[in-house]
Amino acid sequence: MATASTASPVRIQTDLFINGEFVKAENGATAPTYNPHDNSVIAEVASASTADVDRAVRAATEAFPKWSALSAADRGRMLLKLADLIESRAEEIATLESLDTGHPMRDTMRLDVPRTAMTFRYFGGMADKFEGTVIPVDQGFLNYTLRQPVGVVGQIVPWNFPLMFTSWKMGPALAAGNTVVLKPAALTPLSSLRIAELMQEVGIPKGVVNIIPGAGSAVGQHMAEHQDIAKISFTGSTDVGRRIVKASASNLKRLGLELGGKGANIVFADAHLPAAVNGSAFAIFHNQGQACIAGSRLILHESIADAFLDQFVALAKSIRIGNPLDIATEMGPLTSMGHRDKVLGYCDIAKEQGGQILTGGRAPQNRPELTGGYYVEPTVVEAKPGDRVSCEEVFGPFVVVSRFKTDEEALQIANSVEYGLGGGLWTTNLAKAHRFAAAIRSGMVWINCYKRVNPASPFGGVGSSGYGREMGFEAMHQYTEVKSVWVNVDANIPPFYPR
Ligand code: NAP
Ligand code: MG
Repeated sequence: MATASTASPVRIQTDLFINGEFVKAENGATAPTYNPHDNSVIAEVASASTADVDRAVRAATEAFPKWSALSAADRGRMLLKLADLIESRAEEIATLESLDTGHPMRDTMRLDVPRTAMTFRYFGGMADKFEGTVIPVDQGFLNYTLRQPVGVVGQIVPWNFPLMFTSWKMGPALAAGNTVVLKPAALTPLSSLRIAELMQEVGIPKGVVNIIPGAGSAVGQHMAEHQDIAKISFTGSTDVGRRIVKASASNLKRLGLELGGKGANIVFADAHLPAAVNGSAFAIFHNQGQACIAGSRLILHESIADAFLDQFVALAKSIRIGNPLDIATEMGPLTSMGHRDKVLGYCDIAKEQGGQILTGGRAPQNRPELTGGYYVEPTVVEAKPGDRVSCEEVFGPFVVVSRFKTDEEALQIANSVEYGLGGGLWTTNLAKAHRFAAAIRSGMVWINCYKRVNPASPFGGVGSSGYGREMGFEAMHQYTEVKSVWVNVDANIPPFYPR
């Protein structure tokens, strides 16, 4: 345990959570986690090796029979208690998340923490309401399905929403009766270790949940290859997703892959402009643009493009950048220095291909108190649809603008990238809205809003954005195997070899 020097005291757990206990890495390794506001080290956190993966998988394997046999209501009750506990510690957990990731407190308090509790609560409530079916088959037979947990599930998550992902991943997995080994991103391990402490507090049995920060190339890779892990649920980049697909082949693991995105956000000529400007700013600048579903491509009808951009750029310039722990801050730093450099690199790439930086593209100016942190100004770039910045995921406060004349052109631009996760459109024309919702190649579409997420609503993508869905009943399906059971209920059924 370490303590951090913040306004509100937070508990910082720095050990791995294996078999219900906080333990050091077997080889004693640790890695620092940084505060993105000033590049200071918050704490040294135990860094797992492949031996620790094996320990965690053993613990999860041993815990599985009892946990899966527990009544669904009892499993659900523990998740409901966990949700309450998270809410009762909201400020402390929000502070921890803001400290480790750079998310502004106003967001972690308003979004990350309440949504984490909401998601655990949703799946806690779902546990005993998730049913099999009875299927009408041939006369004389009863056919029904059982939904059974898959076993030990490996969960690998990125650094952009580390707290929320604990609930997206573990909520459905645990409700369905699986046991879990979760690897948070090495950059942001603190909130998931805090959740492990709360799981201990609510009495989740030992071994059911194991949380092991460590390097993806070793720990994540070993999880993907592991013979005793039945499923990997992965959120992260498309490149690593491909590696996981290959690594999973040996035991034919089930996979859920939530990968990158390059969200199209189309504003039609008849859109309600103030709402579209505001919603489009939230779509890209919330969490410094570090969201796979970010509306990172603004596709504007030529007739409103100039008026839209005047307001949008003015709004981007007015966003209050600052220390994430200051409740007035609207935009914090990016989560790592390397990522900040990558995002700034894309500003150069944009310019090299003839793109125009309309605002931003640099660290905040004349703010000496921010120079030690990983800050980038909200950035708006106008570029051609085929340019690199229009196709590649930047994953920062960086939106690329293009203009269209016809609906066909808008759709062609929207569907011109390899990704297909989220997309949005702004129009007052009902028929057009539904036509585009069906035609945009993506797993999610928002009409006159953007980035709405709810634990009841399926979340996931198509194409290079991966496959499988999180949230809702879809998630429960993906954390269970369906078994079809046939019963002969007719004593007079004719024999198979009629003689
Ligand atoms: P990343 O490099 O793919 O890392 C994601 C996780 O995978 C981390 O925990 C990482 O470990 C681990 N990892 C790295 N190499 C691995 C390997 N060979 N085998 C198994 N695991 C490995 O992605 P990131 O840079 O952290 O996150 C940003 C990306 O995630 C973006 O592309 C974004 O769009 C995507 N994302 C997608 C969604 C979605 O739901 N679709 C949501 C959020 C983010 P370490 O980093 O700790 O070494
Ligand atoms: Mg950090």
